[in-house]
Amino acid sequence: MTVTRFAPSPTGYMHIGNLRTALYSFLISKHDGGKFILRIEDTDRERLVEGATDVIKSTLKITNITYDEGPDVGGEHGPYVQSERKEIYMEYAKKLVELGAAYYCFCTKERLEKLHEEDATGGYDRHCRNLSPEEVEKNLKAGVPFVIRQKMPLEGTTSYTDSVFGEISMNNSELQDQILMKADGYPTYNFCHVVDDYLMGVTHVVRGSEYLTSTPKYVLLYDAFGWERPVYVHLPLLMGKNEDGSVSKLSKRHGAVSFQDLVADGYLPEAVINYIALLGWCPKETNSEFFTLDELKSIFTIDGVSKSPAVFDFEKLLWFNGEYIHKLEDGEFEKLVAPFIKTDIPENVNRQKMLALLKTRISKLSEIDEKMSFFITLPDYEKELFLNKKNKIADFDTPKTVLTEALGILSALDAFDNDTLFAALSPLSEKLGLKTGAVMWCIRIAVSGLSATPGGATEIMEVIGKAESLSRIKAALAKL
Ligand code: GLU
Repeated sequence: MTVTRFAPSPTGYMHIGNLRTALYSFLISKHDGGKFILRIEDTDRERLVEGATDVIKSTLKITNITYDEGPDVGGEHGPYVQSERKEIYMEYAKKLVELGAAYYCFCTKERLEKLHEEDATGGYDRHCRNLSPEEVEKNLKAGVPFVIRQKMPLEGTTSYTDSVFGEISMNNSELQDQILMKADGYPTYNFCHVVDDYLMGVTHVVRGSEYLTSTPKYVLLYDAFGWERPVYVHLPLLMGKNEDGSVSKLSKRHGAVSFQDLVADGYLPEAVINYIALLGWCPKETNSEFFTLDELKSIFTIDGVSKSPAVFDFEKLLWFNGEYIHKLEDGEFEKLVAPFIKTDIPENVNRQKMLALLKTRISKLSEIDEKMSFFITLPDYEKELFLNKKNKIADFDTPKTVLTEALGILSALDAFDNDTLFAALSPLSEKLGLKTGAVMWCIRIAVSGLSATPGGATEIMEVIGKAESLSRIKAALAKL
């Protein structure tokens, strides 16, 4: 069975790149009907950010990336928070010492600092690598603080095959005897993720490509324990476009890069998920770009993952989001957009009709206030707005006549719905010898004060109601 995991460190907000890792990892297991695990990697105690784990959990919940095992859902391999597994790591580190692939190091901080001062790039000089068992025993008995380091082979190479990037090879002479267990008794990421992936039965390690070149050190640990190596799936870098056209690692200066910020700005989680699914992966047998999570589960395969960096394109995401919003049911849209409406909607405005008109004209929910403002308050406009080449309106007489006539017709109406309005105003074009377009143009300018609007004249009037429509037409006549 395919078992994958998402193993975030709770060090802040949910970066879009992390969410992509979670998504791909989830899809790879679900494509095979496998299992997906959430594991919280919190052993770097200095980098912990309060509340970050909740953000991770809520993001996965909102996006429907459900985990079969993890904190709060439990599972046979728990606990799923690394700080609660400390003893396990110490036990395995000691085992590794017995196997000859790790050793105790008693070097003091001062000694290490001095080493660093003398040669900042040289790393640890393996001073404790060959301590005799007696010396080690003596130090341990005396309670000398220690770390446990990985004993790297000094010669040869270590290789593994990554599913995306192919064969990765490293000269062992370049590998540092890295710390596995720290003096505070906590393991380093380098060690505990390997132990956990093994104990939790993870078959596919899916993560960002920043781990590509450190993975030889991890496979050495698998080999030393005699464990079967997992399949590695390193994901391509995520880049952002800079103003000068170049690209660099996606970061805050490119725009909102946390999932929370995007949602707060009116992006739909489904649209974000759909968009990021395509950031580094390409479906094989379809040209479509629109996929539900269930569809992604069925078509997502590792061989569609590309190794070239993916560029996060905010315009494309905005377009995607718009497409998702336009397809919403009116009722659903009303519900989702409600928290973004900060303006009071006066009683004359038909909220439901207005939102239905706006739904297909916005690309993100936060645009709503700006887009609906003309329904609420007539913008200040110049009378020149009435002039229009396409509708052959070259002077102010035409709008004046049209609006005077329209005012008479509209004042007499009881019902004020779109169909009634249209039927009542239609004869006007024949009577005045004008195209319907020209008549409606004049009325639309008068009731909206804008040259481009969501909906036509009659739809707008239906939304703002009779009294407001008449008052806007009168104001236009006064202007003319
Ligand atoms: N805790 C690591 C991170 O957040 C996980 C890397 C991995 O998936 O192995 O980058």
